[in-house]
Amino acid sequence: MTSTPALPSRTEVAVVGAGPTGLALAVTLAEAGVDFVLLDRQAEGANTSRAAVVHARTLEVFDELDPSGALSADLVARGIPVSRFRIRDGARPLAAVDFDGLPTAHPYALMVPQYETEAVLLGRLRALGVDVHRPHEVTSATQDADGVTLTTAAGETLRAAYAVGADGMHSTVRTAAGIGFTGSAYDESFVLADVVMDWAPGPSEVSLAFGAAGLTVIAPLPGAGAEGAGRRYRIVATVAEAPSSPDLPFVRALLAERLRGEARVHDLVWSSRFRIHHRVADRYRAGRLLLAGDAAHVHSPAGGQGMNTGIQDGHALGRALAAGDLDAYEARRRPVALRVVALTDRMTRVATARGRTLRALRNTLLPALARIPAFRNGLARELAELDYR
Ligand SMILES: Cc1cc2nc3c(=O)[nH]c(=O)nc-3n(C[C@H](O)[C@H](O)[C@H](O)COP(=O)(O)OP(=O)(O)OC[C@H]3O[C@@H](n4cnc5c(N)ncnc54)[C@H](O)[C@@H]3O)c2cc1C
Repeated sequence: MTSTPALPSRTEVAVVGAGPTGLALAVTLAEAGVDFVLLDRQAEGANTSRAAVVHARTLEVFDELDPSGALSADLVARGIPVSRFRIRDGARPLAAVDFDGLPTAHPYALMVPQYETEAVLLGRLRALGVDVHRPHEVTSATQDADGVTLTTAAGETLRAAYAVGADGMHSTVRTAAGIGFTGSAYDESFVLADVVMDWAPGPSEVSLAFGAAGLTVIAPLPGAGAEGAGRRYRIVATVAEAPSSPDLPFVRALLAERLRGEARVHDLVWSSRFRIHHRVADRYRAGRLLLAGDAAHVHSPAGGQGMNTGIQDGHALGRALAAGDLDAYEARRRPVALRVVALTDRMTRVATARGRTLRALRNTLLPALARIPAFRNGLARELAELDYR
């Protein structure tokens, strides 16, 4: 277990949850000289790969957190920059979305496991002289005219002027604030798998393959297989049914059915299956309680927006807390979540369209649209989250 500093009894801002959102918020507060406590119920940070893509706008936020550029350079060095998303029908290319013309210092999508992104943010926080307080599970948050009192499972209390729920989808802070989480769940399950394989199109692009059985995303990850055989890829697939930890034969069969002959899977590194919801918190603030990241919005992983939106929330909220302009935070960031939920929902529904006629229409329309530069560039800008500067 990591040894962490004792929990103080008072602070200005209590940040509940040290995932990517809480870490980005904490770094922003530390840079601004705001007194805060960051706590997490886990004894250690998670080491699973989860969100695998960091978009251009998030790398710009890293540059705002460290204008020397060293922070974004550290992350970029741990990943693979990819300049193209290729949309396919099965293995057949339909359209491409290019990032290399984007007006940003980072004209690419960076493929990198979530634990690396968290490690880079934590490294920056520690360099600023602050660490995460672990393991402290917040069980209640009550507010009065002067502040918020958080109580932990061990019975300790922390008094703060403000408390932020960066505590994920099942947020305790959101429940304590009485804020609704409006939306519903998709019918399909999503399978995630990091595999070592040979993939005919190669590691220079991300593929989003449509198919009657569902959407399959194939994206390169850093790292090779044993003795250099194959390389690492992230698979995300919508499925009607799957075991909770899909095994190697399951993933092989799935790719053999959907991408005939294109993928030869050697090894399974990590896998998970989960139901996805699309929900947005009705408000981002109730008095002294605030929400950010998955506590405020969840959606389909199509396009890899979840963690990116959370990091950007954390940064925006840190600035709003430092400036004392909290209403601006909700006004700026909630519309972004609504737009991201709508975009990922559209992508998921187009990709999983059922019925031969609908799919044929889609496969005709999409290549035609993708030949229009304004459509192509608009989609790239939206995926890179550059419209949310
Ligand atoms: C299996 C899996 C696969 C995913 N794949 C993708 C993907 O491919 N692409 C993508 O964009 N996103 C993906 N996501 C989502 C992505 O991981 C999240 O969007 C991102 O982690 C959100 O960050 P967050 O900091 O807001 O919340 P989280 O990462 O959930 O962090 C919340 C933190 O709060 C802590 N916490 C919770 N409750 C309490 C409490 N009561 N007291 C103290 N601490 C608490 C938790 O321990 C945790 O560390 C995936 C998620 C999972 C689980």
